[in-house]
Amino acid sequence: MTTTKIRQKLPKEPQQGTHAMPGAQAMIVDLKRNSLDDGPGIRTLVFFKGCPLRCVWCHNPETKHAYPELAFDAKLCISCGDCVQACKPGAIDLDDPKRINRQTCTRCMECIDVCPSGALKRAGRLYTTDEVFAEIMKDEPFYRYSSGGVTFSGGEPTVYMHFLSELSARLKAAGVPAAIETCGLYNHGLFEKLLLPYLDMILFDIKFIDPFMHKKYTGSTNTVILRNFVKLQEKTDIPVIPRVPLIPGITTTEENLVSIANFLDRNGIKKVELLSYNPLWTEKSAGLGHELDYDRKKFMDKGEIVMIKQIFKDFDTGKF
Ligand code: SF4
Ligand code: SF4
Repeated sequence: MTTTKIRQKLPKEPQQGTHAMPGAQAMIVDLKRNSLDDGPGIRTLVFFKGCPLRCVWCHNPETKHAYPELAFDAKLCISCGDCVQACKPGAIDLDDPKRINRQTCTRCMECIDVCPSGALKRAGRLYTTDEVFAEIMKDEPFYRYSSGGVTFSGGEPTVYMHFLSELSARLKAAGVPAAIETCGLYNHGLFEKLLLPYLDMILFDIKFIDPFMHKKYTGSTNTVILRNFVKLQEKTDIPVIPRVPLIPGITTTEENLVSIANFLDRNGIKKVELLSYNPLWTEKSAGLGHELDYDRKKFMDKGEIVMIKQIFKDFDTGKF
């Protein structure tokens, strides 16, 4: 099995942590207000676009690449053909189930403006820190009364380390708590200097302990990731909560979950979030023209859940 591939010629991906300098912009897919997930209370989630990993199961495929993409939702399409007329390169074929030839598409986004049903959408645009700060501050009273705040998600937010530093410093000054969800593949020195002083919670993905399995399914080994996780435990008093994405047949093997439980135990950690598999990502991926190397369409079954609960029986697993 290899990582997800896209056939068309693509722009160069940024190196993580170097994409944005102070005052620069960040590519963001969505700012979701009124969320009750990914941290306490009422939250605004900011989905940054771009990630150094290529997990074959990525549940937010629209955030993988740090450039805008054209997303097609077949359920909304009424087959009017207006997009075919608007597409100068001739990349759209109504008879093709995939609809868009991604090798021909130049991502000019002109078809979006003519689509009457919203079946074509742009995934990702550049935001300034002023724009994101203003959007987050709209719900400031809700954060105060619910002990909520903002969660930086993605993609991998640390791709935009300097942008994030500027934004989170402003939020801290405004009294808005900030959490980050991270895959852990970042430069620890930069993270400690630019982000850690402004964060209130870190949600840290642990996918595999075995570096070869990590490389096979995410495109990168986990040496830096596990080292960063241990360093955080030593360097900060804010909660650093490990999160394990449960991907049937990939991360949910007994061997992998037992090795994760043992790793957490060795590091004195008794709380872990277990993230249930949600197959809806496969549709989103197909609509972006990404090729799938893993496409399980079912949720997890009872047997799988019982086995997972047993492995983590000595941990606080919250709602799982
Ligand atoms: S983004 Fe441009 S090139 Fe691509 S399908 Fe739409 S109109 Fe055609
Ligand atoms: S313009 Fe929109 S609704 Fe009409 S065929 Fe194209 S994608 Fe479908």
